[in-house]
Amino acid sequence: MNLTNPFCDADGDKLREECGVFGAINATDAAAATALGLHALQHRGQEAVGIVSFDGQEFYNRRGLGHVAENFSAAEAIAELPGFMAAGHVRYSTTGGSGLRNVQPLYADLAGGGFAVAHNGNISNAQTLKQDLVGRGAIFQSTSDTEVIIHLVATSRYPTITDRLIDALRLLEGAYALIVMTKEGMIACRDPLGIRPLVMGRIGEATVFASETVAFDVVGAEFIREVEPGELLRIDFDGNIDSLHPFGTHRARPCIFEHVYFSRPDSVFAGRSVYEARKAIGEELAREKPVEADLVVPVPDSGVPAAIGYAHASGIPFELGIIRSHYVGRTFIQPSDGARHAGVKRKHNANRSLVEGKRIVLIDDSIVRGTTSMQIVEMMRDAGATEVHFRVASPPTAHSCFYGVDTPERSKLLAARMELEPMREFIRADSLAFVSIDGLYRAVSGTDRNAGVPQFCDACFSGQYPTPLTDLNRREAQIAQLTLPVEKVA
Ligand code: SF4
Repeated sequence: MNLTNPFCDADGDKLREECGVFGAINATDAAAATALGLHALQHRGQEAVGIVSFDGQEFYNRRGLGHVAENFSAAEAIAELPGFMAAGHVRYSTTGGSGLRNVQPLYADLAGGGFAVAHNGNISNAQTLKQDLVGRGAIFQSTSDTEVIIHLVATSRYPTITDRLIDALRLLEGAYALIVMTKEGMIACRDPLGIRPLVMGRIGEATVFASETVAFDVVGAEFIREVEPGELLRIDFDGNIDSLHPFGTHRARPCIFEHVYFSRPDSVFAGRSVYEARKAIGEELAREKPVEADLVVPVPDSGVPAAIGYAHASGIPFELGIIRSHYVGRTFIQPSDGARHAGVKRKHNANRSLVEGKRIVLIDDSIVRGTTSMQIVEMMRDAGATEVHFRVASPPTAHSCFYGVDTPERSKLLAARMELEPMREFIRADSLAFVSIDGLYRAVSGTDRNAGVPQFCDACFSGQYPTPLTDLNRREAQIAQLTLPVEKVA
């Protein structure tokens, strides 16, 4: 996450996971496995990729802008990364944050030897910590919050690298899933609430870590278990694994949006198949928000599993009434709103022969700005749909995320600006409805949200952030101080 602009302007009309991480230790060709694992995590970040490896003597580092395949498919690229331990990272850049200096894993030579870190998440007090570090003479090379971790480790007075890392992590607020490499081995850890995902697997003698289980399928690894919230797993070069819980016991709050949209449907998250969870959300949506219609049509690709569930529970036939082209350019390289809209039309096309003369229920995973939803409704009407009903497989997204997900600033979120009926008018649907937060919880975990003790982070729906937001609060206080009362001119 970029430190300069926490209100990152999301491309298009989806929230975007900002990072994916993968690590392998005691692997015969760690960098090749890492490149393959990152390729399976490409959906979590498409602007930049990096891998750091270690061969017992030296650390090697290769980073680049673009996709994994563009940077790591050539044998020469992997040959630059020898060794039996490697960690890698895919990321989206944020406003002002693109460029190689922010591409992870970040690497530094510390007093105790090389230190590389790949981070998925966002430290919500990073600015405050950075100010303090800079005041004490630290010089930052990047605008990434992850570099704060390196400086905190570097300046910790504890004797071992593990204790120094724990000392650093104690100061952090927010979300982190980290893969750290040192000359003693690999450390994988999650923040005390486990907001961002991290799983552990095995291939032969090698231990591997990834943001999602789908990476293990692709590299041929066996899924062992999730890294527990607040757990720090330390693996040495003899294969010994220590599990530490230095932060006490907390109630886990993994990101519920992993089930809604971020994770690949062929991953397992928080013990549940993402595909099955999405289907179940669609079923809940059909029970909660039924409508008379002829066809259930998913907004591809992310609306597909929920639409299957909606069709199953409602008895309305499922059809691919919108076809997605997989060969359009990425809309996020186009900065203006106009270009973004053109991108939507190039990406989706109505399947006119199916849609014409029909009452359609459109199913999408979420509505962020609402511009894509509006265009898709219009596309259905242009193709001859007689009614277009919009059903959303998540509650209204009315709050920004501060835990490593690229969200538009709150004023651009449709649900933060409008109540339900104005939203319906904005997207020009005949009806609009969202699954309830209890319905979402029932689908992904089998129980209601249970108001006081939610099992997930659901802050982008509820506004109830599970950690302090120190940087945000400081900034708001500063803005309030600067806003002087305006005297009325008679
Ligand atoms: Fe996930 Fe939303 Fe929480 Fe961010 S605010 S971690 S997107 S549930």
